[in-house]
Amino acid sequence: MQLPSAGVGFQTIHRARSSFWGAPSTISRIESLAAQAHSAGLGDLYIEDISRPRGGPLSGGHQSHQLGLDVDVGLDPAPKRALTAAEREQVELTSMVRPDQRAIDQAHWSPEVITLLRLAASLPDVDRILINPAIKRQLCQDVRGDRSWLRLMRPWYDHAAHMHIRFRCPADQHDCAQAPPPPPGDGCDATLQWWFDQLALPPKPTPPYRPPPLPAACMVVMQAP
Ligand SMILES: [Zn+2]
Repeated sequence: MQLPSAGVGFQTIHRARSSFWGAPSTISRIESLAAQAHSAGLGDLYIEDISRPRGGPLSGGHQSHQLGLDVDVGLDPAPKRALTAAEREQVELTSMVRPDQRAIDQAHWSPEVITLLRLAASLPDVDRILINPAIKRQLCQDVRGDRSWLRLMRPWYDHAAHMHIRFRCPADQHDCAQAPPPPPGDGCDATLQWWFDQLALPPKPTPPYRPPPLPAACMVVMQAP
């Protein structure tokens, strides 16, 4: 299914280079997240890539977003007016992290960001949510009461202006290989500190990403008219 270009609590952005198709369960959960955020008084969510109409690799080298189970959602919960089509192409997502990557940016951070992240983690069948390590560390410091959802919030490169939500394989998608669940616990431990230790090291050259060959069944689907 295709996510409508806008709806209660959300606006899609960067439509020229993004793709908004997903499993029906993914689309309904994005709409549910936006509606819940709207009810909680947050501004519209900016929605970026989901997947191509029949899945498969996205242009730009995304390794995921191939199954209709991933979505990128901007993290800035500030109120927003309805953008024009041209403005939606140009809009820049606001980073929640300082340029040095060591902490959140107090100029943009607010308790409403935590509200948004908690709502996302509370959706059904979330496999994990990728966020910048500095955002994870702030959650570790700030979240009181129920912290069980922090397990789903996984530190990853970038992801300072958007979160990447991945849903679990739908029950009727038999060829979908479910990733192992995140390790137990809230993740506020040495595995989180590792990310900050890396910042002090010289950057390692990353080999270019070489996508694996597509399964034959995928080729048939992608080349269908
Ligand atoms: Zn993503």
